[in-house]
Amino acid sequence: MADESQTTETLGPEDSKWLGEYSRVHMNVFGTPLRVMDHGQGTRIWDVDGNEYLDFLAGIAVNSLGYAHPAWVQAVSAQAAKVAHTSNYFATEPQIELAARLVKLAGAPEGSHVYFGNSGAEGNEAALKLAKLYGRTLPGAAPEIGGKPARIIALTHGFHGRTLGALSATWKPVIRMPFEPLVPNIEFVEAGDPMALYEAFGQTGLGRYGKGPVAAVIMELIQGEAGVRPLGADYVAKVRAMCDANDALLIIDEVQTGIGRTGAWFAFQREDLSGGITPDIVTFAKGVAGGFPMGGMIAFGEKLSALFSPGTHGSTFAGNPLAASAALATLDVIEREGLIANAEARGEQLRQGIMASDNPLFEYVRGRGLLNAIQLTHPCAHAAMDWALEHGLIVNAVAPDALRLAPPLIVSERDVDEAVAILAGIPNDLPND
Ligand SMILES: *Cc1c(COP(=O)(O)O)cnc(C)c1O
Repeated sequence: MADESQTTETLGPEDSKWLGEYSRVHMNVFGTPLRVMDHGQGTRIWDVDGNEYLDFLAGIAVNSLGYAHPAWVQAVSAQAAKVAHTSNYFATEPQIELAARLVKLAGAPEGSHVYFGNSGAEGNEAALKLAKLYGRTLPGAAPEIGGKPARIIALTHGFHGRTLGALSATWKPVIRMPFEPLVPNIEFVEAGDPMALYEAFGQTGLGRYGKGPVAAVIMELIQGEAGVRPLGADYVAKVRAMCDANDALLIIDEVQTGIGRTGAWFAFQREDLSGGITPDIVTFAKGVAGGFPMGGMIAFGEKLSALFSPGTHGSTFAGNPLAASAALATLDVIEREGLIANAEARGEQLRQGIMASDNPLFEYVRGRGLLNAIQLTHPCAHAAMDWALEHGLIVNAVAPDALRLAPPLIVSERDVDEAVAILAGIPNDLPND
């Protein structure tokens, strides 16, 4: 954090008071929060001192409908008044309806099944466990004939969550290494390099140096936490082909990219991100329930889905009716209000506006739909984020040299113009991170 004093000086009295109290009782895993927020409406949120912000982060691509969307509030309130939780000894209509809806939106074949969890990490935990069960069915992995455990391949710069399993597939050394040893037989290959992947697959074999077969590759199509970096359709198509040739699963982590964020229901449905491939497993979370904690996975096809049976996985809150109702309302509004098309159009407007602003701090802008990042000409992202916040715009320093922009899918043309005007004014002489 380059210049904390600059932010602190303009913090209001209520914010300062609450932030002091926050630090006294919260574990310091997030650093000091920027503000203490009070309430939101649409694309705006207000802090406890009454300052208004235009929100171009949306709770990290979570608040798809912005704040307090009437249809969402109505759905959650009505469900809370009916039944909020049952446990999985019982089912509720919203979760059944939601699972069917997600299978359909993903274009998954008949026989595909959904598992619900409560976060992105949990969606990925489920996917990794399913991949492990799948790995045991591969020739050469069977322990009873001296087989070698199947491997899972993850990519450099990939992010899949903080729980121990998901963390094992998360690349960033500073967040992973303090917790090693983690789940074994997960390997990293260089993202975007098909030869590296080819080599990793080729190490399979029964010889002394041979490794177990590859059960799965797990990857994002746009590496969000790495700075909103699309991997490229050609590369993704090659990964799919290599998985096919080796009977390995392809797990696409759409926790950040899914549910309309990139201008399609799922990023894999965008030819220009995926090369038109179909995944075996898709994980989702962030945007799915419009601000309610929910995540999960869709397993494509009957055979794969059937590897999970009673006892193999679960969670008390999984498929909670309150979360499911929030998600159904979110999907309804996205459909009814044409928010996928809006994500595409507003994203285009945003990227063009940023480049036309001629701010010398901006090198270029990358992303799809409403998941974008501005590449900065020098690494002052934290100071730039603070400056924007002081000027009423929430953006995110996703990397020292990149600002992430992920507004709600309801963002209007005027909101985008307003954000671009603020971004255009970010000074070029801010201190580096
Ligand atoms: C945010 C994110 C996760 C983790 O989700 P949590 O809800 O924080 O556990 C996993 N994968 C990707 C791609 C993400 O962006």
